[in-house]
Amino acid sequence: MGLIVQKYGGTSVGSIERIQRVAERIVEYRQAGHDLVVVVSAMGKSTDVLVDMAKQIAPFPSEREMDMLLTTGEQVSIALLTMALHQRGCDAISLTGWQAGVHTESVHGRARIQEIDNRRILAELEKGRVVVVAGFQGISREGEITTLGRGGSDTSAVALAASLKAEKCEIFTDVAGVFTADPRVVPSAQKLPSISYDEMLELANLGAGVLHPRSVEAAKKYKVDLVVRSSFTNEEGTYVKEVADMETGRVVSGVAHDEDVAKITVIGMPASGGTLSKLFNTLAAQQVNVDIIIQGSYDSELTNISFTVSADDLHKALETLSANQAALGFERVEHETGLSKVSIVGAGMINNPGVAAEMFRQLADQDISIKMVSTSDIKVSCVIPAEHTGLAVRTLHTAFGLDVKEQAVVHGS
Ligand code: ASP
Ligand code: MG
Repeated sequence: MGLIVQKYGGTSVGSIERIQRVAERIVEYRQAGHDLVVVVSAMGKSTDVLVDMAKQIAPFPSEREMDMLLTTGEQVSIALLTMALHQRGCDAISLTGWQAGVHTESVHGRARIQEIDNRRILAELEKGRVVVVAGFQGISREGEITTLGRGGSDTSAVALAASLKAEKCEIFTDVAGVFTADPRVVPSAQKLPSISYDEMLELANLGAGVLHPRSVEAAKKYKVDLVVRSSFTNEEGTYVKEVADMETGRVVSGVAHDEDVAKITVIGMPASGGTLSKLFNTLAAQQVNVDIIIQGSYDSELTNISFTVSADDLHKALETLSANQAALGFERVEHETGLSKVSIVGAGMINNPGVAAEMFRQLADQDISIKMVSTSDIKVSCVIPAEHTGLAVRTLHTAFGLDVKEQAVVHGS
């Protein structure tokens, strides 16, 4: 039987008992004859604990030292899981990202994987071992330890599955699959049997935390069959693939929300000479990801540009802007926090005009003000005050016909 790459998230390896359960599942797969490469995250919230310790020492610690610190989390879980496998008579070996040949760009905190030299993994598989690889980490050309960004273990798993031409990549997590909305916010949310890469990519980018967006991008690019499923049950999960099964012909497949949105407005930029490219190149050079952009000219020479960034990037964005104020030539910068982004996603939207209008009407009926809008072929997003997030998501979930009668079951924490 073929090779399967499995990934177990923080909750799934969050305690010794849970690590034991993961080991048992792996042994069952081995007994069924599969070769396995297993990617794990750090235990529970241990990455957050490490971040917190660093912040107690320095508000903005060195990014290199942060990577050095955070990669220890995964190293704990690969070693413990491998020991648990040994206890069960299962031959296994743990490898750090660099031992596994995960080569990344020379960026700290959010490096992209450039190449995987899978010779060591193949050699270990050849010896009949389960290979347990630390997710979220790699090594740069300069030999520095890097991390892929928070939640990056999913991307490690998909990249390994692509590199090893695995039969499939199973992402084991604390929910039963991909839901029509976050079940903690919408109790009537339902699990989708399947979803397309494009829809999943939108949902992941929109803050549906179940998969790291870059993992979905990589899965789409390399046509990796992805399955998202619970590590606490044997329930079938959600298949992420090229085209989702024809279902009920629904226009909207899911409602996503992201409560970490900050809005920045750059006031009085000279309106000529490649304003937008200068501004956004400057931000991109500092690895600040910009989301929604709105440009509004208020006279022929000056313009205001508003855009959103994740709340985590706000400080860096503001710092970058102020360091480059002279070169960019703007008057001043304003920013706003306490915002969220609510989005509807569905491949069926392409052929259905009026979906955005319906979304705006639903939000207006609830007296929710819309601050910014962005659309693509398969999604509409609105930035709204964060205090209305839950109401907005529930309203849209009902309005677009996604409610079911039974309550969704959420496992774990
Ligand atoms: N441990 C890392 C994090 O918490 C990576 C991951 O879990 O995917 O972000
Ligand atoms: Mg995750």
